[in-house]
Amino acid sequence: MSTVRTISVIGTGYLGATHAACMADLGFSVIGVDTDAAKVASLAEGRLPFFEPDLEPLIRKHVEHGRLRFTTDIAETADADVHFLCVGTPQRRDGLGADLGAVHGAATVLAAHLRRPCLVVGKSTVPVGTAAEVAAMIRAGAPAGDGVHLAWNPEFLREGRAVQDTLRPDRLVFGITDTRDLDVLRAVYADALAGGVPEVVTDLPTAELVKAAANSFLATKISFVNAMAEVCDAAGADVLALTEALAHDTRIGRQFLRPGLGFGGGCLPKDIRAFVARAEELSVGLPFLREVDAINIRCRKRAVQLVAEELGGSVAGRTVAVLGAAFKPGSDDVRDSPALHVASVLHRLGAQVRVHDPKARDAAARRAPELTHAGTVAGACLDADLVLLATEWSQYVELDPAHLAGVVRGQRMVDTRHALPADRWRAAGWRYRAPGRVA
Ligand code: NAD
Repeated sequence: MSTVRTISVIGTGYLGATHAACMADLGFSVIGVDTDAAKVASLAEGRLPFFEPDLEPLIRKHVEHGRLRFTTDIAETADADVHFLCVGTPQRRDGLGADLGAVHGAATVLAAHLRRPCLVVGKSTVPVGTAAEVAAMIRAGAPAGDGVHLAWNPEFLREGRAVQDTLRPDRLVFGITDTRDLDVLRAVYADALAGGVPEVVTDLPTAELVKAAANSFLATKISFVNAMAEVCDAAGADVLALTEALAHDTRIGRQFLRPGLGFGGGCLPKDIRAFVARAEELSVGLPFLREVDAINIRCRKRAVQLVAEELGGSVAGRTVAVLGAAFKPGSDDVRDSPALHVASVLHRLGAQVRVHDPKARDAAARRAPELTHAGTVAGACLDADLVLLATEWSQYVELDPAHLAGVVRGQRMVDTRHALPADRWRAAGWRYRAPGRVA
């Protein structure tokens, strides 16, 4: 078994900050590097610049113990045994694929400092073929030349459960070109492997594709059920009863089979678009994934339509409270958030929109400053003509409909996430609507 003592993590956003903290928790000496000086300053003081359950205490603990530090100077990573590449791969401005500027930039700058044998491990989500490119860039740029190897170890963590998912993932995928690198990866992940986490060892392109395929499958499941909700709406059927019946089929299962406002966030939407673009470059058409994306966008339109229907055809001049801004509960991530998207469209259509989110208020206010961002649910709902539940935080699920009735002007609830007990809300005098369910 190889000896790994020091680890560097390049890019300390949602993925990298979590990975760095978890590696420190496993006993490694870790240095995190980011080009964002404000982010580094915050992390270096043990403060997390975003919300992720359980992560801030872990960072603070290991920063205080000196096992985890952060810098903007990549030269300080030169002596690490293993370097994890965790930089962002956002959607390109033209919408046609992933922007690999940060991956290429970080790999080039890192390589120049690699004077001794080490392993660089890509974790960012990249189009298939990127790892081979990065391997060539690193070999060409590193003073240690062939002593520097590259592996790809895609990440599957879910925001809101990032720490548990990093320490105990469902599986570990190791894309390698040299079996000696497997010993290094096994040393890094010894704890998880000893705990029974399965490993899949493969080549670089397969490792990259596993991530694209996993995201595509999940997105397809979500859009499938949301397409069923559309059909239910058109046919006067009930999507919740339908999915309940489907879920009893063990071949189908229950997970990811809940209709709602669709997927969002910093990963699924841009990843499936990048996958379609890359597959087309490889002369493979994936039209079903384009449709998955289109159905997902239609969910947001349908939510706006439901609000308009409930308000007599137009939202102009009406007050709408939107509960939730994060793309999902347990996170403050508002990147491509369906909730914030719907809120912004309602605002553009002339509604006075007040948004509440227990964790994403600041992030939402930065991204959508045109909206009113309330500090409390009651503040958002005061005199509202309609309340729209857009992110299923548990505090919304537990709301007392009788109490909220005294706050709003109109007792109209559009529950885009099918999160509320409809009967209870109706019994308290609310008109309750949800996509795919009879009014
Ligand atoms: P993020 O935007 O939160 O973080 C990326 C970080 O990289 C930023 O802090 C940015 O400043 C930094 N960066 C950019 N260029 C750099 C450079 N040259 N050197 C050092 N730092 C640099 O993004 P994220 O959500 O952490 O995602 C990172 C990657 O992980 C993406 O490819 C994403 O698809 C993938 N991923 C994310 C998740 C998730 O849940 N967020 C899960 C699995 C995979």
